[in-house]
Amino acid sequence: MQKWTKNVGSLISYAERIFPDVEIVTRNLSGEITKSNYGEVAKRAKKLGSSLEKYGIKHGQNVGSLALNTYRNMEMYFGISGMGAVMHTINFRLHPEQIVYIINHAENRIIFVETVFAPLLEAIQDNCPTVEQYILLCSAEEMPETKLKNAISYEEFIKDGDEKYEWPELGEDAPCGLCYTSGTTGNPKGVLYSHKSTLLHTWAGSSANGMGLSADDSILMVVPMFHVMGWGLPYIGAMNGIKLVLPGMGMDGAALVELIQKEDVTLAFGVPTIWLGLLGYCEENNIKLDNVKQTIIGGSAVPYAMIKEFDEKHDVNVVQGWGMTETSPLATATLRTPAMDKMPKEERYKLQTKQGKPIYGIELKIVDDDGNRLPEDGEAFGKLLVRGPWVNKRYYKHDEDAIDADGWFDTGDISSIDPEGYMTIVDRAKDVIKSGGEWISSVDLENAAQSHPDIMQASVIGVAHPKWDERPLLLVVPANDKKDKESIYSFLEDKIAKWWKPDDIVFVEELPIGATGKVLKIELREQYKDHLMK
Ligand code: ADP
Repeated sequence: MQKWTKNVGSLISYAERIFPDVEIVTRNLSGEITKSNYGEVAKRAKKLGSSLEKYGIKHGQNVGSLALNTYRNMEMYFGISGMGAVMHTINFRLHPEQIVYIINHAENRIIFVETVFAPLLEAIQDNCPTVEQYILLCSAEEMPETKLKNAISYEEFIKDGDEKYEWPELGEDAPCGLCYTSGTTGNPKGVLYSHKSTLLHTWAGSSANGMGLSADDSILMVVPMFHVMGWGLPYIGAMNGIKLVLPGMGMDGAALVELIQKEDVTLAFGVPTIWLGLLGYCEENNIKLDNVKQTIIGGSAVPYAMIKEFDEKHDVNVVQGWGMTETSPLATATLRTPAMDKMPKEERYKLQTKQGKPIYGIELKIVDDDGNRLPEDGEAFGKLLVRGPWVNKRYYKHDEDAIDADGWFDTGDISSIDPEGYMTIVDRAKDVIKSGGEWISSVDLENAAQSHPDIMQASVIGVAHPKWDERPLLLVVPANDKKDKESIYSFLEDKIAKWWKPDDIVFVEELPIGATGKVLKIELREQYKDHLMK
């Protein structure tokens, strides 16, 4: 058979030829909705690629971006990687010190930045000596006053680019993308994706057993494009001619519902916290999400109550996906099966709270602390290890591999696997609660609590206890301002083991949310560390 070393730029060239008119819809910073399409994105990506080449960016160099989900970001995904450089997405919600670390570590020479984030970079640019030029994601007319070094608008930068530019042939393992994990402890770690791993992930992710996407779909991409290469959706979209709806800054319920209704969204992607807000907005305003068929939710555990609400109120099926920066990200998914359709609803919802079955290419195993393989009986749980062609081998610029001799990567998650192959996250290793030597799953407790009608959001952490080392503390964001501990305790009674009962319930106005939309348990643990010691 033939040698095949295409780079990811080939995806947008394919879309340009086969799906030129399929729309890429963006909500601009001004709030208005503008339309591009794959044909346009491809031409402009090529202009960008050739402009970067002319500037002197070399193959393998990391080009930084602090960018929202917009058509320009799509162009960067293909223009930067396609010309042989590395699309280095930077999470603009990180602490500025972490952003400085990441820019220096990646040795970015150019950074593309939204005008709204210019002040953030102005404040730190003196600490980022490798950066030669900042390119603002706007037209020449929209350029703000800025002190950023050699600032120029994106439109000016690509103006003389070649829209017929041809993507170079790159080596099999040439890098195309770079993402840093948010690193709750220590410095962020970079995961460098290759063209090959990305193309394989794109195929597997779009297959019927991956996320089951097709040209009939219109996808609302709420997941930020800096979060693990936008869960691969820019690539999957181009390969399959999928309409992409990109919300820019408009992440509130009203803005999302407007896009869903106007753009006939059939599928939406994001983390649970985003959907909490959207469901709340729909409830308050008596809105049903008519055209949406499915939501694909991942990043943290999807509560039972959310799966039920999507199904019963909106007729929307929830597909849960599990993955991490180190797995590109898609590794497992809980797709709707004919068997699920025959189950009583409650049983199906329960199954959908599992993180899912591995897609082809990904292997999973669970092991005890000594590395012994544990049975896949749905009961035993231990460290979750993963292996596959789009799984990290070595963190960027690290000296040692992050995998063992057989290629297994330790995810830091504690899981069980059932006889049918469904994997369930019991907890993140660092979040599991150890009470008198026994383990309590914070995820299970949260799931149980979250079904209480007066609970909008729940988080469970382990806090120090004089007798049991650690005991669970339940933090609750109340719905409708109802704060009744006794009602919550009696609700939990038949849903959890007696000794799992949280030692206390604390009502809070909101929970701290991290840079990728997950509850920051590390902060909660610090804040409440003495709560049960008094
Ligand atoms: P960050 O922590 O910076 O957001 P990742 O996105 O790489 O970085 O996080 C990966 C982790 O997120 C996984 O190891 C797992 O603990 C958690 N996670 C991802 N998807 C799910 C899911 N569907 N259910 C439970 N946990 C999940």
